[in-house]
Amino acid sequence: MITLALSKGRIFEETLPLLKAAGIEVLEDPETSRKLILPTNKPEVRVVLVRATDVPTYVQYGGADLGVAGRDVLIEHGGEGLYQPLDLRIARCRMSVATRDDFDYAAAVKQGSRIRVATKYTEIARQHFADKGVHVDLIKLYGSMELAPLTGLADAIVDLVSTGSTLKANRLVEVERIMEISSRLVVNQAALKLKREALRQMIDAFASATPAA
Ligand code: ATP
Ligand code: MG
Repeated sequence: MITLALSKGRIFEETLPLLKAAGIEVLEDPETSRKLILPTNKPEVRVVLVRATDVPTYVQYGGADLGVAGRDVLIEHGGEGLYQPLDLRIARCRMSVATRDDFDYAAAVKQGSRIRVATKYTEIARQHFADKGVHVDLIKLYGSMELAPLTGLADAIVDLVSTGSTLKANRLVEVERIMEISSRLVVNQAALKLKREALRQMIDAFASATPAA
């Protein structure tokens, strides 16, 4: 049995064409089914639905043989015990710093002020501001980061941006791009040895179906 961990939403949707290229079709729709384990047309392959941030943990400890996770999630997790053979180039966006449109971020950085930054991505934020030599107080949030600068909780946020429309709707501006984000295939290292042939075939099929640059 091969178990693939996916999160619902864009990662699930964007992984479907890659699975199809490997001859795998998921037999139930996670948006309508209440099942957490979804069968496929191949009796030896199943999909488990987990929270996006839990995908690396499932794969690391062998709850799944492989999975699809964002670069953001992988950096925050640390990636221990995970083989990362492939950038799938799906679920693409960027990690950015944003502030209220009336906050002078460049001036704050130049003056060496302490900046209060709210984010779900504390590891990426910590590294970014350490590299820049900017002093920050990081405030960990689990959702709706856009609200933090609007309520005075923080001066800035570090969050994922794709079109920028969420920022715009909340009168926030993107003041710095930290890194490009896409999703990667992660594989359990023991499974790679024990189920070598089956996993190799899937990895190769995914590689040939991955969208071009
Ligand atoms: P949850 O919604 O359960 O709290 P989540 O917000 O991490 O979890 P998603 O919004 O489905 O889950 O995001 C999953 C992954 O997709 C993220 O880790 C990131 O890599 C990528 N992603 C997030 N937002 C976008 C976006 N706007 N455009 C493209 N990719 C995105
Ligand atoms: Mg989300």
